[in-house]
Amino acid sequence: MNIHEYQAKEILKGYGVTIQEGIVAETPEEAQAAAKKLNAETGTEWYVVKAQIHAGGRGKGTVNETGSHGVVLAKSLDEVPEKAAGILKGTLVTHQTGPEGKVVNKVLIAQDVYYPGESEPSEYYLGILLDRAKGCNVIMASTEGGMDIETVAEETPEKIIKEWIDPTVGLQAFQARKVAFALGLEGEAFKGMVKFIFSLYKAYEATDSSMFEINPVLKTSDNKILAVDAKVDIDDNALYRHKDIAELRDYTEEDPAEVEAAKSGLNYVKLEGNVGCMVNGAGLAMATMDIIKLSGGEPANFLDVGGSANAQTVEAGFRIIMKDPNVKAILINIFGGIVRCDRVASGVVEAYKNIGEINIPIIVRLQGTNAEEGAKIIEESGLKVYSAIVLKDAAAKVKELI
Ligand code: GDP
Ligand code: MN
Repeated sequence: MNIHEYQAKEILKGYGVTIQEGIVAETPEEAQAAAKKLNAETGTEWYVVKAQIHAGGRGKGTVNETGSHGVVLAKSLDEVPEKAAGILKGTLVTHQTGPEGKVVNKVLIAQDVYYPGESEPSEYYLGILLDRAKGCNVIMASTEGGMDIETVAEETPEKIIKEWIDPTVGLQAFQARKVAFALGLEGEAFKGMVKFIFSLYKAYEATDSSMFEINPVLKTSDNKILAVDAKVDIDDNALYRHKDIAELRDYTEEDPAEVEAAKSGLNYVKLEGNVGCMVNGAGLAMATMDIIKLSGGEPANFLDVGGSANAQTVEAGFRIIMKDPNVKAILINIFGGIVRCDRVASGVVEAYKNIGEINIPIIVRLQGTNAEEGAKIIEESGLKVYSAIVLKDAAAKVKELI
């Protein structure tokens, strides 16, 4: 699960990670009030207005309606509301959002941390993620912070330092020092970075995250180390033990069909094709997608209704698939193990009647317990539903109907 920058920074701060302070706002008035409060708390006189969306590249991105960038600097309190107005409710397009962009509902008003001083501020990259091949977490760091790290990884991979963490002993002090040293830091900044890495790693483990990306980590002109940006991805499978984090979920950032599917307990992933499919079991769903491709179609989705499909789950699945205008046919492929085929067939017929105007062909392939009875129910329903027992026949019907 992804969370917003302002939420991520709040969590990191709780683990002692030093951050660029900020206050979230939903209107230009709230933005000004937030700036005033920040001024009182931190003494900052410049403010950064940052669009809060689940995508990076905001600084270089553009708001369609106003032409404003997604991260802008306000050099006085009075500039804050107008800069916020240029971003709020607008559609921000970045290289990560796709051309349709994302609507901005909130902005983070942050203190300016690039103030002049004894040295130039420097930007670094720091990431923690799971290295599945090695079976342990890896810390990645680079002096090329602020930039597109994918480009750095591709063109100058030697500029990315990696430090793998042995899960049995955890992060060792020498490893944090090694990273800080490789970043070319010394003195206060070196000590600050070592502490930063430790706090960050603690936060990563304690929150069951699968990825942290802090880009940039800033060395300020007076040698403080701060998280200026924070991208945090929490492992969905661990959310049951982090109720407070689970509550941070922002459904407006997610695909509406996937949200509805999750609420109905269905496993749904939208794809680009024209044949909707509804299957019980992830393995059978994968095999069904293969069959659809072999028959000349393209799957419009992955949908696993689980082992205990009933009329309600079938109906919910139908509704979700029907939301996709690309769908030209639906293939239902259910193996009746615990659930009986005649019950599924009744469910399909019932759902079909409840939803009403389904104008696309539906091919139902039922195999297993009471398959014959199931096929009979569908045949006798008089609906535009095609029954098949053998998967090969189902595939042939898909081909014929699309
Ligand atoms: P991203 O573009 O979505 O990755 O958003 P970031 O939070 O990384 O911010 C983008 C850029 O805004 C940074 O790389 C900085 O160059 C700039 N920026 C962020 N905070 C400040 C600040 O406090 N002062 C100034 N002058 N620039 C900032
Ligand atoms: Mn960034």
